[in-house]
Amino acid sequence: MPEIEQRIAENLSSVRERMARAAECAGRESSSARLIAVTKYVGVRETAALLAAGCSTLGESRPQQLWEKAEQTELASASWHLIGHLQRNKVRRTLPKVDLIHSVDSLRLLKTINEICGELGEPKRVLLEVNCSGEAEKHGLTSESLKPLLAELANFEHVEVCGLMTMAAREGGEATAAQNFASLREIRDQSLKECPPGALLPELSMGMSHDFEVAIREGATLVRVGSLLFEGVRDG
Ligand SMILES: *Cc1c(COP(=O)(O)O)cnc(C)c1O
Repeated sequence: MPEIEQRIAENLSSVRERMARAAECAGRESSSARLIAVTKYVGVRETAALLAAGCSTLGESRPQQLWEKAEQTELASASWHLIGHLQRNKVRRTLPKVDLIHSVDSLRLLKTINEICGELGEPKRVLLEVNCSGEAEKHGLTSESLKPLLAELANFEHVEVCGLMTMAAREGGEATAAQNFASLREIRDQSLKECPPGALLPELSMGMSHDFEVAIREGATLVRVGSLLFEGVRDG
């Protein structure tokens, strides 16, 4: 196997082992936290190497890059997740290409997604992004702005809100990340009271290369890992 492909396969199995160990330490089933491999740093070859190594759930943070990769025949077996900010004028082009949008950060965006899903006749699963760190440069709803949105969920018949997503604070290390992740879980538990009956919000998308184990300890069901998978592969 060429070096790059080999290295990516090794990185992937190391991340999977660490995920399984973190789940075990937390007393969870190892299948209860799933990996979203974030491919924003790399091109088609490295992305194809992930698929070949058995990881088919991939994430991109920029809609344009997601569109480009999703159109590659080598990557046709991938399931794409959008994990970054989505502008409303990009919804129509993005929807047919994604299985899950992690980053719905406003009521207006949710309304647009619902409308276009209705037109396309294709329902879509989404997560609501919550800003748990309070950092001004981050996207995401505050816990206050989440409430009125949840109360309206029953009106969105073409989108299924199936959980919440967050990013930990840049500074503050593991302890702060753990706090941010615990608040997302608590906000989810609180949110269930505001939701229409029957809503479950089972998914918590949290944790990246430097904090995915902490996230699994705090209940992550989806971790979004990029850098670690491409160690020794991309320059710089
Ligand atoms: C880039 C990115 C990731 C992956 O980050 P790494 O630290 O490279 O693992 C996860 N989530 C979001 C929203 C991102 O933009």
